[in-house]
Amino acid sequence: MDDFLKMDKLSEECGVIGIHAPGVSGISHMLCFGLIALQHRGQESAGIAVLKNDKMQYYKEMGLVQEVFDNEILDRLPADIGIGHVRYSTTGDSYVSNAQPLVVRYKGGSIALAHNGNLVNAVEIRNRLEDEGSIFQTSIDSEVIANLIAKNYSLGMKEAVIESVKEIKGSYALTIVIDHMLIGVRDPNGLRPLSLAKLPEGGYVLASESCAHDVVGAEFVRDVEPGEIVIISDEGVESIFFAEGHKKAICAFEYVYFARPDSIIDGKSVYETRVESGRILAREYPVEADMVIAVPDSGIAAAIGYAEESGIPYNTGLIKNKYMGRTFIQPDQKSRELAVRLKLNVMKRNIEGKRLILIDDSIVRGTTSKRIINMLKAAGASEVHVRVSSPPVKHPCYFGIDTPNRQQLIGAIHTIDEICEMIGADSLAFLSDAGLKKSIDFKPCGLCTACFDGDYPMEVPEEANKFMFE
Ligand code: SF4
Repeated sequence: MDDFLKMDKLSEECGVIGIHAPGVSGISHMLCFGLIALQHRGQESAGIAVLKNDKMQYYKEMGLVQEVFDNEILDRLPADIGIGHVRYSTTGDSYVSNAQPLVVRYKGGSIALAHNGNLVNAVEIRNRLEDEGSIFQTSIDSEVIANLIAKNYSLGMKEAVIESVKEIKGSYALTIVIDHMLIGVRDPNGLRPLSLAKLPEGGYVLASESCAHDVVGAEFVRDVEPGEIVIISDEGVESIFFAEGHKKAICAFEYVYFARPDSIIDGKSVYETRVESGRILAREYPVEADMVIAVPDSGIAAAIGYAEESGIPYNTGLIKNKYMGRTFIQPDQKSRELAVRLKLNVMKRNIEGKRLILIDDSIVRGTTSKRIINMLKAAGASEVHVRVSSPPVKHPCYFGIDTPNRQQLIGAIHTIDEICEMIGADSLAFLSDAGLKKSIDFKPCGLCTACFDGDYPMEVPEEANKFMFE
């Protein structure tokens, strides 16, 4: 892990985009802009696959989107239809062969596929396909989906996609280019987000988050529904539901931390849900103090909500260095302290002598919280009361989020009093499970909250959530 602030967070999964706009120029550039907007969902690799005149081409590389693509590369990818992907590895190793989109050949042509999520029955399906003679090139679960589609090609490509997604279990938001169609698929629980927008010059965009639609100038049409396949072709948009009667379970962590605050997911503004979580937290766990501050950036909206509700003024207590991305720092204790100071600096004059309420969106390991509290106290804060705008993370995620093992989840192995002492806070409180659900305001059963309460929306494997074939 190279970002020490993120060590105390769950890690993002991936982001996907797709554009179907024959005759519109600059599709590859648009895909690239969309991926930059989705960069927060994965910083390990980036890729684009495009189709023009029956020719499928792709380019993918390790690194941030702007490190991977330049105008010269994008100009070499002419497109009528295309998809893109940013990846944070939750399954498989960190090699470019595991970067996406995946492009595989089948008897009738090529399939390009980008996947956000994690399959819980990938090992089972892969073993079966290998027994039947399929050959796999990567160690990622997404290749199972591409292989299933290729294997079912004789049904016709629409049917092949429908039959294939009926076999897979887990979380997935997919964008697929096949047979001159752009296809979007969202898993039956809707764990990962996917939405549809329209380009003003004609054509459609599918993306993990609405912030990617905004950046390419597309107008939001609607969310892809859980269990829905959206087929975009020259004939327009067709919708097929392949699974009904499942419990809707959008990942609550999308609202807590993963998604960008300017995104709207399933009709809910991520920013507004975070502000509301802060308001509820202030009602649940008030404390006397002089100032509310946030761990930037993801704690800011909840801190604003907490300040509004409590009447205690919000101010900036910590400044984040936005330009320190990947670091050269070694993972030893001294270097980690230095990394936190490089990444965050205290606004000494604002906080000196003050009783602070420090709002963070989540605490996973507790390591960074301790360093931040040390810095605030060293800079003269008289008290630091920590309020966390989500419940303690106690259970692993099997749906595409990189969770540390249970022994590293501070909320799973320690009481809140113990955590408070460990991180050196004057008091500590977490938003309640009910408060989290209320802040997102979903109707009953609309959210996955399994990492907080262990209530998984489907059967999950007992062992590791990694897809490994070594
Ligand atoms: S277990 Fe947690 S991180 Fe995973 S999908 Fe559910 S809410 Fe999201």
